[in-house]
Amino acid sequence: MFNFSPGPSMLPPAVLQTIRHELLSFRGSGLSILEMSHRSDSFSEMLEEAQADLRTLMDIPSQYLIFFMQGGATAQFSAIPMNLNPPADYIDSGLFAHLAFTEAQKYGRVVCAGSSRAARYTHIPEYTLSPDARYVHATLNNTVYGTRFSRLPETGSVPLVADLSSCILSEPFDVSRFGVIYAGAQKNAGIAGVTITIVRKDLLGHALPITPSVLDYTRLYEAGGLLHTPNCFGVYVCSLIFKWLLAQGGIPAMDALSRERSGLVYEALDDNPLFKTHADKRDRSRVNIVFTTGSPALDEQFIQEAQRRGLVGLRGHRVLGGMRASLYNAMPLDGAKALAECIRSFKGDAAIE
Ligand SMILES: *Cc1c(COP(=O)(O)O)cnc(C)c1O
Repeated sequence: MFNFSPGPSMLPPAVLQTIRHELLSFRGSGLSILEMSHRSDSFSEMLEEAQADLRTLMDIPSQYLIFFMQGGATAQFSAIPMNLNPPADYIDSGLFAHLAFTEAQKYGRVVCAGSSRAARYTHIPEYTLSPDARYVHATLNNTVYGTRFSRLPETGSVPLVADLSSCILSEPFDVSRFGVIYAGAQKNAGIAGVTITIVRKDLLGHALPITPSVLDYTRLYEAGGLLHTPNCFGVYVCSLIFKWLLAQGGIPAMDALSRERSGLVYEALDDNPLFKTHADKRDRSRVNIVFTTGSPALDEQFIQEAQRRGLVGLRGHRVLGGMRASLYNAMPLDGAKALAECIRSFKGDAAIE
């Protein structure tokens, strides 16, 4: 079976095997990771390894801190404005970008710098930045609508803050161009309940007084990244994913695979006149491919046919319907080939059409 679920999403089978193998006794300690103190030596060692491995994978410079937080990317929609203190610019490029913008309005003056909402987010919008913005927020891959920024927004000396939930670790990013990067782990980097947050150190110290301690980057830094009990098991799964990614050849290998996988599926879609993609060609995502026949009945027929072939998790997001194929790091090339073949051979039932 191939699992195209948008998140939580498929994990590498080798990682699942390791979890099963180590579950009763973590690294020979006799204790399960599920019952171990987050202040224990075994856990601290694993946490430090996870941070070091992520630093290696993404080539994160030393002036950036790495936190494994809770509350999903959604909690960061609040943490960002509370820590960075607007005015700020938001680029409205999709569902989550819009949610981040809406949440930030609770905490200060935020401006929509550009939006493709009126065009149902089929493309990445043009944008104009304000002179007094303290940061610019962008969602670099739009998980629901299947679009991506092909270039990083140019923000000059204003920190770029980016939601990388669906594209982290699947393509190279120059971390030094960002102020803050955050990503829910359950798409490309692990399981639900862990949020990777990468913060440039000089941005600390500006949190609004109302900021809850668990979302306060400065408090977290002062507590050595462990202000309270983290999602211990989730961090452990991330640590295994990072090691697996390093063994696969790291981000260059994931980037090449990602281009190849998405290329195969888009080619098949472009060759079959029954299908069209939601995204404009130039802004197509490499990890979330959103497509439809235009007929709900035919879409359903395609989803059923794919399921018969062992291709699952293809039903589109509720706001768009249709189909969405999520091709994250753990998806092997064979999964993309099987989906491309299913798309190519789909003719649809004339009666339904
Ligand atoms: C999934 C997703 C979110 C929401 O993440 P949660 O972890 O469920 O809060 C936010 N932004 C993007 C880009 C996503 O793909």
